[in-house]
Amino acid sequence: METVKFDELQLDDRILRAVTDMGFEAASPIQAQAIPVQMEGRDVVGQAQTGTGKTAAFGIPLLQKIDPRSKKLQAIALCPTRELAIQVADEIRKLAKYMHGIKVLPIYGGQDIVRQIRGLKEGTQIVIGTPGRVMDHMRRKTIRCEHIHTVIMDEADEMLNMGFLEDMETILSQLPEERQTVMFSATMPMEIQNIARRFQKEPVTVKVVKKELTVPKVTQYYYEVKPKTKVEVMCRLLDMYAPRLSIAFCNTKRQVDELVQELQGRGYFAEGLHGDLKQMQRDRVMNSFRNGTTEILVATDVAARGIDVDNVEAVFNYDIPQDDEYYVHRIGRTGRAGKDGIAFSFVVGKEVYKLRDIQRYCKTKIIPQAIPSLDDITTIKAEKIMEQVMELIRETDLTKMVNLIERTVLTEEECTSLDVAAALLKLSMGEENEDIIDSGRPARSLDDLDRYGRDGGGRGRRDGRSSRDGRGSRYGRDSRYDREDRDDMARLFVNIGKSQNIRPGDVLGAVAGETGISGKLVGSIDMYDNYTFVEVPREYADAVLRAMKDVKIKGKNVHVEKANTRGR
Ligand code: AMP
Repeated sequence: METVKFDELQLDDRILRAVTDMGFEAASPIQAQAIPVQMEGRDVVGQAQTGTGKTAAFGIPLLQKIDPRSKKLQAIALCPTRELAIQVADEIRKLAKYMHGIKVLPIYGGQDIVRQIRGLKEGTQIVIGTPGRVMDHMRRKTIRCEHIHTVIMDEADEMLNMGFLEDMETILSQLPEERQTVMFSATMPMEIQNIARRFQKEPVTVKVVKKELTVPKVTQYYYEVKPKTKVEVMCRLLDMYAPRLSIAFCNTKRQVDELVQELQGRGYFAEGLHGDLKQMQRDRVMNSFRNGTTEILVATDVAARGIDVDNVEAVFNYDIPQDDEYYVHRIGRTGRAGKDGIAFSFVVGKEVYKLRDIQRYCKTKIIPQAIPSLDDITTIKAEKIMEQVMELIRETDLTKMVNLIERTVLTEEECTSLDVAAALLKLSMGEENEDIIDSGRPARSLDDLDRYGRDGGGRGRRDGRSSRDGRGSRYGRDSRYDREDRDDMARLFVNIGKSQNIRPGDVLGAVAGETGISGKLVGSIDMYDNYTFVEVPREYADAVLRAMKDVKIKGKNVHVEKANTRGR
């Protein structure tokens, strides 16, 4: 994987400064290809979708061409939705931060047209608009086309899906002949290819050529999150799985710094690694990660290249990678030397489609998971502490402590030894945050995205139910205190729990029914908000896993795997 730095692309210094401010470490693969071609003035067909850095891929060469001294409209970018128009305008404004006199205006249906006309008259050089409203302004002559030298169609296939084909054709046919026409589209249906044929001149197609990649055998989960809750979700997963060493990947240097600060502020041993660090700082961070002083390494893709550490137990895709190949490289940092590894990806909004593509291309399985609730974590933390407590009771002499507690209980009237135990447990569990995350249901299955359409028909909507009341419940024999007797039993993890309206009996029924083993042989069933642990005789574990592969419980697809005894 070759890295192209922005300073190799012969960009205007002011754009370079802006890119540095935005924290971009290197050009994304689509940028590395599209920027030079567009800067040559060629027409471009870019096959890329959201999350690949496509906006800057067409935005940077566009800005190179704009003359800030002329107050005439020089470029139009067409977008399928108002959200995208606003987003693209924001990104281009950020890139133009040091280019004084450049005005970028988003225009879309639903907004006051008089205000838009005023904006257009104030010397706007770049319009980012939805096709319907752009046509409207063309008819009113509030958008004049004579000086337009560049037109960009962003998410052309989406514009087609939304019925804008004719509008696009009308707009393109009214623009000056002498112009540069750039089109970005995730897919290339026939109608889009026709547009390219009719309205572009010998376009150069740019897309990231995919190599055959071997995906490491690593358990891969993903979570649908909101930008504001990402850190909290990451901390919950760190607490729940307790990996010794992990690497979190971010797309920008700035995000690396922010995440390190957040994690350090919450008491985690985290350090950052990115291109701004001097060699000495790099070495210090890497040594501290290798010897385990730093437990979480937060890095950009470029900086993490060449890192060779064997015991990384978890990888976090804090930002979804901009390229499929990055994904494979990232998750390959764990699960080395025959050890188990786990990878967690966070997706925000539409990024879920990027992840679906990664899954398809890498021919791998990225399993949707519900964000663990605080109750889930509290219960698991308490279980872990209780396991240590039982070990201490078995293996050490606690007479002195027993005497101390006896004395306290005798002198403090309203206190029993049980209260003391409970308070000590609370102390050792540390502070809990308020449950600010709605962790009700698992993310959408990536395979289902196509079936339910782009917006998922509301499937991705959270149901607003808090799982705060959902304490873990046990069913059958209590496994907590007799774990050493349970060598004959294997613990399995099922990714469904109380929040999905499942009862322990449903899990028992499914295991017994699907595998044919007697329900009596099934051990304890520990049910939490979003997942369940079930114990089965070790000799049947593999058969149960096989039998449960494509099983539904109460109509819901489930995923069953061996529980990770350290983390869970
Ligand atoms: P896009 O594919 O244009 O929707 O971009 C997705 C996100 O990636 C946006 O937040 C961009 O600011 C960001 N981005 C674009 N180029 C880069 C880059 N070279 N390095 C890191 N982030 C980038």
